Amino acid sequence: MDLRNGVELRSLGNTPDEFRQDMLSNLYYRRGTTVESASAQDAYETLALTVRDRLAERRARTAAAQYESNPRWVYYLSAEYLLGPQLEQNLLYSGTSEAAHKALEACGFKPEEIAALDVEPGLGNGGLGRLAACLLDSLATLDIPAVGYGIRYDLGIFRQEFQDGRQIERPDDWAFQGDPWEFPAPDDVQTVGFYGHVDERDGRKVWQPGEVVLGEPSHLLVPGYGTTTVNIVRLWRARAHQASFDLTRFSAGQYAEAVQDAVRAENISKVLYPDDSTAAGRELRLKQQYFLVSCSLRDIVRRFRLRNSDWDAFGSKTAIQLNDTHPVLAIPELMRLLVDEEGLDWDHAWSLVRQTFNYTCHTLLPEALETWPVDMLGRLLPRHLEIIYLINAGLLEEVRSRFPGDIDRVRRMSLIQETPERLVRMANLAVTGTTMTNGVAELHTQLLTSTVLRDFHDLWPSRFANVTNGVSPRRFVRLASPGISALISSGLGHDRWLTDLSLLSGLEALTGDASFREQWREVKRSAKAALGLGDPGALMDVMIKRFHEYKRQQLKLLHVITLYQRIKAGGYDGVPRTVLFGGKAAPAYQAAKNIIHLINAVAAAVNADPAAAGLLRVAFPANYNITLAEHIIPAADLSEQISMAGKEASGTGNMKLTLNGALTIGTLDGANIEIRDRVGADNFFLFGLDAPAALALRSGPYQPRDHYHADDELRAALDAIRSGAFGGVGHDVAASLLDRDEYLTLADYRSYVDAQAGVDAAWRDQDHWTTMSILNTARAGFFSSDRTVTDYLDRIWHATPVRVEG
Ligand SMILES: *Cc1c(COP(=O)(O)O)cnc(C)c1O
Repeated sequence: MDLRNGVELRSLGNTPDEFRQDMLSNLYYRRGTTVESASAQDAYETLALTVRDRLAERRARTAAAQYESNPRWVYYLSAEYLLGPQLEQNLLYSGTSEAAHKALEACGFKPEEIAALDVEPGLGNGGLGRLAACLLDSLATLDIPAVGYGIRYDLGIFRQEFQDGRQIERPDDWAFQGDPWEFPAPDDVQTVGFYGHVDERDGRKVWQPGEVVLGEPSHLLVPGYGTTTVNIVRLWRARAHQASFDLTRFSAGQYAEAVQDAVRAENISKVLYPDDSTAAGRELRLKQQYFLVSCSLRDIVRRFRLRNSDWDAFGSKTAIQLNDTHPVLAIPELMRLLVDEEGLDWDHAWSLVRQTFNYTCHTLLPEALETWPVDMLGRLLPRHLEIIYLINAGLLEEVRSRFPGDIDRVRRMSLIQETPERLVRMANLAVTGTTMTNGVAELHTQLLTSTVLRDFHDLWPSRFANVTNGVSPRRFVRLASPGISALISSGLGHDRWLTDLSLLSGLEALTGDASFREQWREVKRSAKAALGLGDPGALMDVMIKRFHEYKRQQLKLLHVITLYQRIKAGGYDGVPRTVLFGGKAAPAYQAAKNIIHLINAVAAAVNADPAAAGLLRVAFPANYNITLAEHIIPAADLSEQISMAGKEASGTGNMKLTLNGALTIGTLDGANIEIRDRVGADNFFLFGLDAPAALALRSGPYQPRDHYHADDELRAALDAIRSGAFGGVGHDVAASLLDRDEYLTLADYRSYVDAQAGVDAAWRDQDHWTTMSILNTARAGFFSSDRTVTDYLDRIWHATPVRVEG
């Protein structure tokens, strides 16, 4: 192959023999050991390196082709990435699964045992971080020149354990053994400033930081599927400057004092979402945000300069997507670079900034719209605060001229919230400093533009677009469900559906084929058997997602208690069910942790009761993450998407489950609406208040106790909790439901329980259920993240593919 300077690279072969040879040399020369003395960890790391080498070769060709074409780049800035385990993915994408399998066996290792050593980097919380990973996967698959930027947290999302049913958080030292997938690049280190003051020199502002920290990048390969392109995700790690180690103090025996500055610097990338219940914790989060932004923008500018010299081209060569408000400081930071450091005039810089950035909003919860105290921001980033004020002046002038005399509107839209503690509103800054703002599902975008961002929509209607989320079919069908994937491919007669998911529609015709239906049923059943959490013949009823009151795990739990009470009363007429919960609660979110505790208490009671045996079982495997998701999703028959309508922005778990043939029971919320529109109302179990009805009920004098008094089964379920039937656990959950019920759980209870009776009735007709299941998969092709990326390209990024020769 021909690289930029004409030097040839020896191609690596993928035959089992060539693969084994390369594995042996990696074992000897990079791992420094031999087959005879290699540990399982040696074998794992050697395998990883051998697979990585195959992708690195494709990466080199990609970099050369992308450099050559000087394209418009897509840069994705995200505080979170939930990339999932890398080994299985990279084996699949490099086409080396079989060769690797054989090579391991030839060296005396059990492939499954070696694969189990692959640790997933948990650099995110949930849906938002996983979306970032799915978009990177699709960008590479579609040959778009793209780089993801993030933070390389030493400790990812905590590992969840249960102790007496309570959630305990353990640190996740995911890279303790080193990370064989990572390429460190200490030569690309960046310097990041904090604190200090602003001087003026020759009419230009100069920020003199009071403290500097180094940002050291490393990257992971992001291969495309079915193409040569391999993109990267670049992650920054904070390193202390040499000068911050105090040798004098160390020599004097003051060991802790000697390293305190260095420790403080490196704390910036120590943990994902440090606890923000203290002022120090909040400041650390703000430091993380600026750290990510500052390192990434300098890197983006460095890359721009490799091929371009004229700032005017910057906006047309660069599309930066801000994943939620966490990286929004990039807007004042780029202004600072252009105006203070590059000497552009303000208006010129502002037009480039606006051309460059776009913003994805992920929430509707007003409390989740990020703000930062003006005092804190001004102390940490004095020049950025000045720039924010200047941007605000321009914004408010535009608002005043469009809506003369509308003082309230000016106050609402200001970047500064004039509460006693003055706050910077990051979402307002994001909309103001970008070309486009997008919501993540039709309903979400509609609600955004009519509620939280309504004033901005009035001012700039053409700045808003919808891009409905999607998921990677490679990760969440092919890797998660090899059985379903093989059946789909054999049914369709090809596997092109993996890169064109709309082709799943070809499965519709197969619903009329009794033998295909039988195979489909069998595949679902064996996925349940493999999961090993309950009888594979029972309905697998799955609720997997972060714990949040708006997502309403408590509603699912009330249903479980009701079923249990029917069993105890001898009146159970439902089908056998396994109810599976999975998810973590934020460490400081007590109400969510109380629900987890109660679920475990109910599970203990139900699972120990012989009366429930064979009818109802409750499973709650700890530490829900991508690895666990990939085991659970193929086994699911029923997908619980039961948030209070108007609260879930989109959801992506709902898409993963639908694609794997689970039927949804859900509210008209987020992307559930689009799923139902596509799979058909007959193949979806709808219940509950819709968003306008929920909003109306919440705005009035809602009395949860009215529902408690009016519904015998609901009252019995809540009374059981209150009387201590589950080991005395759950008083706080019951009290919160009866007193406030902020998310209308009791109002939706009856409708939900009745819809679940409809599920039972449908499950009894197994053949018809299977038809519905196949139709769910067949009609869910829209929810591929390839389609999501295509929408971003058409509506927002306007970047084009660069094909890399294979
Ligand atoms: C998909 C996914 C999520 C998001 O689930 P929702 O149901 O959309 O909230 C969260 N965590 C993990 C591990 C996931 O894979």
